[in-house]
Amino acid sequence: MLRPGGRPRAGIVATGSELLTGAIDDRNGPWLARELSDRGFEVAHLLLVGDRPDDLAEALRFVADAGVELIVTAGGLGPTADDLTVEMVARFAGTDLVLDTAMEAHIGGILTRWAARTGFAGPALEAANRKQAMLPRGATPLLPVGTAPGLVVERPGGPLVVVLPGPPRELQGMWPAAIEAAPFAALLKRVPPAAARSLRYFGLPESEIAATLREIGSRRDLTDVEITTCLRRSELEVDLRPQPGAESVAAALAEELASRHAKHLVSAEGTSTDELVARALLASGRTVATGESCTGGLLVGRLVDRPGSSAYVAGGVAAYSNEAKTALLGVPAAMIAEHGAVSPQVARALADGARERFGAGIGVGITGVAGPDGGTEAKPIGYVCFCVTTDDGTVIARDPVLPGSRGDIRERSVDVAMHLILRAASGLPA
Ligand code: ATP
Ligand code: MG
Repeated sequence: MLRPGGRPRAGIVATGSELLTGAIDDRNGPWLARELSDRGFEVAHLLLVGDRPDDLAEALRFVADAGVELIVTAGGLGPTADDLTVEMVARFAGTDLVLDTAMEAHIGGILTRWAARTGFAGPALEAANRKQAMLPRGATPLLPVGTAPGLVVERPGGPLVVVLPGPPRELQGMWPAAIEAAPFAALLKRVPPAAARSLRYFGLPESEIAATLREIGSRRDLTDVEITTCLRRSELEVDLRPQPGAESVAAALAEELASRHAKHLVSAEGTSTDELVARALLASGRTVATGESCTGGLLVGRLVDRPGSSAYVAGGVAAYSNEAKTALLGVPAAMIAEHGAVSPQVARALADGARERFGAGIGVGITGVAGPDGGTEAKPIGYVCFCVTTDDGTVIARDPVLPGSRGDIRERSVDVAMHLILRAASGLPA
C-alpha cells in the first residue's frame, strides 16, 4: 500500500448526479484534496460519480485498487432513495447495516425541532429518521451537522473509509470530528508531515521557472520532490512536495528559486496576495479608494472580501460612463475627448479623483477595453490602463494588454491592481 519511503495515498469520491450534468461545480473534492495534501497524504484520485449504485461501487473499487490507505466520500447521506453512499460503503467493507438507536434518537431530536419550525411532520419524517440511523456494523458514527450522520468505516485489510455529507457547509463542519475519530486519528499519526513549500511570483513567465528548474535539476537530485507549477490569479505558483526524508532538498530548492527570481517573488511562505495587501495597507496607515471603469467595482469588492477591511478600505466608485467619470471623480471631459476614456491620463485622473473624493491615502484608477467589441489597433481588446497614486506623490502606472475573454480581462485587471496596491503600500519603487 505504502510505496517504500513514500507518502500514504488517499482517494476522494464525490457523489451526486448534479455534479455530472454540469448543474453545480464540485466544491467538496478540491476542499478535501487540499486538506488531505496539507496533512501529508498523496491524493491519488478525485472521482466524481453519479447517484447510481453500480457506479458508486465501481468508484470505490477503482480507488481502492489504486493502493490508497484512505477513501473519503462526500454526499449521498440524505433520506431520499438516491442517497446510497452508506449502503454501498457497507457493502464495500463487507458488512451490513444495523439500526443505531442512539443515533435514531439524536436525529429524531433534530427532526422534531425542524418539524416544529416548518410544519412538515408525519410518516415521511419518521422513515427519513430511520434510514439515516441505519449504519454499517462496527462503524464509528460522526454526529450530524445537518441531519445526516457521517461515518468512519474500517475494512479489514482495506483502506479506511470516511463518509461525509454533501452540502459543503455540513462536510466542512463535520471534518474536525472526522479527523479526531479514533481510526482516522490513528492513520493520521502515521502520515509524515507534508513539509510542502509554496512560492508565488507575479509577472514571471512559466518558461523562466521551467528553465531554472531544468538547470537546478542538472546539478541536484530532485526526484523525491514533486514539483507543480500553475497559473492562478495571474500569479505563477510553484508547489514543492517532498517525499519523507527529502524535506531538506525541498527547502534548499525553495531558497534557490526564491533568490533566483527575487524581483518577481510575491511570497515564499504561501501567504496570499490579499493577505499581503491587507498587511501592507495596515502597516502604511493609509486607506485605499478605487475609481473603476472596466472592472465595475470588482477591485473594491475583492478588497472588502477580507474581514477587517474597513480599517484600510475607504470605498470605490464604479464610474463606467464618461459622464460618471467626470461627475463623480472629476475626470475632465476634455481629457476624455483628447485621449479617450481608455488612456493612461484617464487612469491617473480616476486614481487621483478616487483618492481625493474619499480622502484616502492611496487611489487606484482602472480603465480598459474588456471586449468583446471596441478594440482598435492602438487600443486592442485587453488593453487596460492602471494607475495608483499616493498622498505623498508616488505614481505607479502600467498599461498592459491582458489576454482572455471579457471575464478573464476584468478578473486579471483586479489581480494586476492588487499587485500595484501592494507595491505602493509597501513603498516599493514605481
Ligand atoms: P442531504 O441530506 O442534504 O441530501 P447528502 O449528504 O445526501 O445531504 P447530497 O444529496 O449529495 O448530500 O447533496 C445535497 C446538496 O449538497 C446538493 O444538492 C448540492 O447542493 C450540495 N452538494 C452536494 N455535493 C456537492 C459538491 N460536491 N459540491 C458542491 N455542492 C454539493
Ligand atoms: Mg441527498
